[in-house]
Amino acid sequence: MNADTHIAAMTPVFPGSVDAAGQRATLGVLGGGQLGRMFVHAAQRLGYFTAVLEPDAQSPAGLVSHHHIQTDYDDPAGLAQLAQLCQAITTEFENVPAQALQTLAQARPVAPSAAVVGIAQNRIEEKAHFAACANLSGVTCAPYAVIETLAHLQAIQGDQADLLPGILKTARMGYDGKGQIRVKTSGELAAAWAELGGVACVLEKMLPLTAECSVLVARGWDGQVVSFAPQRNVHVNGILAVTHAYEGNMPSSLADRARDAAVSIAHHIGYVGVLCVEFFVVEDGSVHGGLVVNEMAPRPHNSGHYTLDACDVSQFELQVHAMAGLPLPQPRQHSPAIMLNLLGDVWFDASGQLQEPDWHSVLSLPGTHLHLYGKVEARAGRKMGHLTITGPDVTSVTTVARQAADLLNLPGLNAI
Ligand code: ATP
Ligand code: MG
Repeated sequence: MNADTHIAAMTPVFPGSVDAAGQRATLGVLGGGQLGRMFVHAAQRLGYFTAVLEPDAQSPAGLVSHHHIQTDYDDPAGLAQLAQLCQAITTEFENVPAQALQTLAQARPVAPSAAVVGIAQNRIEEKAHFAACANLSGVTCAPYAVIETLAHLQAIQGDQADLLPGILKTARMGYDGKGQIRVKTSGELAAAWAELGGVACVLEKMLPLTAECSVLVARGWDGQVVSFAPQRNVHVNGILAVTHAYEGNMPSSLADRARDAAVSIAHHIGYVGVLCVEFFVVEDGSVHGGLVVNEMAPRPHNSGHYTLDACDVSQFELQVHAMAGLPLPQPRQHSPAIMLNLLGDVWFDASGQLQEPDWHSVLSLPGTHLHLYGKVEARAGRKMGHLTITGPDVTSVTTVARQAADLLNLPGLNAI
């Protein structure tokens, strides 16, 4: 079922409403991670009941939802129960089986649709989509080649040698820099492809990045679109570390282009819900016009967490509005903000012993907003929470963010 099928059929699900059978307006989410948790918080604040389908008994979202259906994502009985409980359903991570969304869509409005989630799950299809709307969006992706066979691999040594040095990325299931290997020569490329199991991949040319940014867009069933200004992101070891969200975080001409491109990408695909589009800002402006589209996430995004504390409407509220068929208010950012990701590493001291982070000192700093996701076990690289710093101006926000990062011994300090 594509998104357009529902445009006529989507009757708004109003918060607090009770249907003829006495069932209270309930929104469902497939997946129980932190994005699901913050979605659940937003839905409940509006007055909805919530249901989470997630196999893990201690999941961040399952712990705070009215209903927690504890089955695998593709379990027919679990999916049937979710569809029975909820008037509209969304997902919180893109590696959820697209087939599960397809099944749910036969019973209930599902946003985003299985079709668009399926595109975002596969870098080959995703890049084809970006290429198809390049005329509209005015932005292309990095030069790349699809590698599915030995012949494809061998072609890189000949015609396509200019893609090296590059990054070999698996077409499916990559996140936080996983499923990626950087390669300089065709020999390294062959070894990397073997290391990735010879699965379908894309080889992307390594670009000289000067910055990275992302844009959050929300699009309704009726095609209405609102968006946030681009946020500038800093990654450490392939994982988002710092998000800068304030005016002047990047040149305004690039910011405007990125925002327009993200809106075109959402429209072109008939997207419903919150979409995050990631971009690279590249050194050689003459070749790529300074901006290259990297990938899209069919859901709220880590780089948009600052919207909870720095905007009048958050990315999670917009997800609720979009899926439930409510109007989409244009969000307004009321404070400059910096978001610091808190990985499990923060819970270990220099000798590898578990320690409780010094929250007392961090929370004594002005404008600090701590969000922990309720995960019991801290592990290196695991996203445990985030800290958003808001303040009256960029200088004070930057000063506090540096102090907080220093107290928590966060990597990426020099990037603030
Ligand atoms: P995410 O956690 O965003 O889903 P991911 O694992 O899907 O990450 P990408 O966003 O493709 O991976 O890449 C991770 C990071 O690697 C990028 O944010 C960027 O810093 C770097 N990178 C990826 N592709 C390129 C490229 N073609 N040229 C230069 N740097 C790149
Ligand atoms: Mg990425």
